[in-house]
Amino acid sequence: MTHERIPPASAPVDERGGGDADRARDRRDRGDREVSDRARDAADADREDGRSERAKREPMTVRPLRDRRYVVETEGGTYVVALDAGTCSCPDHEIRGERCKHLRRVAIEVTEGRLPAPDERVGVCAVCGVETFVPFAASGPRLCARHGFERGDAVSDRETGELLVVTRVTDRRADEYRTDEGRAIEAYPTNAAYGAHEPVVEAVYAESLGPAHGIDDARRYGFPASRLVPVDVDREE
Ligand SMILES: [Zn+2]
Ligand SMILES: [Zn+2]
Repeated sequence: MTHERIPPASAPVDERGGGDADRARDRRDRGDREVSDRARDAADADREDGRSERAKREPMTVRPLRDRRYVVETEGGTYVVALDAGTCSCPDHEIRGERCKHLRRVAIEVTEGRLPAPDERVGVCAVCGVETFVPFAASGPRLCARHGFERGDAVSDRETGELLVVTRVTDRRADEYRTDEGRAIEAYPTNAAYGAHEPVVEAVYAESLGPAHGIDDARRYGFPASRLVPVDVDREE
């Protein structure tokens, strides 16, 4: 004996004992619903596109506030956006609950690196003075992407030409950081040409490294950041 499995979706029709007319009406209803759903989707998409376009093109001035929020000035008014909460003080968002163009604009500018993220503030590179975004909690001098270092970077000492490997960028200035001798980095004559306000970068000499001697085993030395220059290791070969 075989039973045909009834798909759950058709069960109500069968229970009502519905005939062809019922099924036709169901189909028609469903069809109408699909048409209106599609129209609504299209309208939604148009509205979405319109809002994204306006978010990108309309003249707006965005400034970060000190409390992780942003002020957006437009011809139509000035609004406050909280990016992490996803809220804006404009009527479009407050009344209609829409993801408005102001929210979008802030998100775009943060993504493109033109504005600090909510957990960042604007800092200044200690070497070139360019604005750079730094975590709120961070203290001490900062470096921009061009003058910063990553652990493991190969660098050369401008004074001696020796090859080193960076272990850490400290948050201490060259006039604060003390060596084992108790002397500030900036007090050494070889550091006279570099800024006392620069962060100290710790590095180990490449010649002190070996198969059994990693960068954490070697003796570390501190340098004012701009005394070290990145080395393109591949090109040296
Ligand atoms: Zn808004
Ligand atoms: Zn810089």
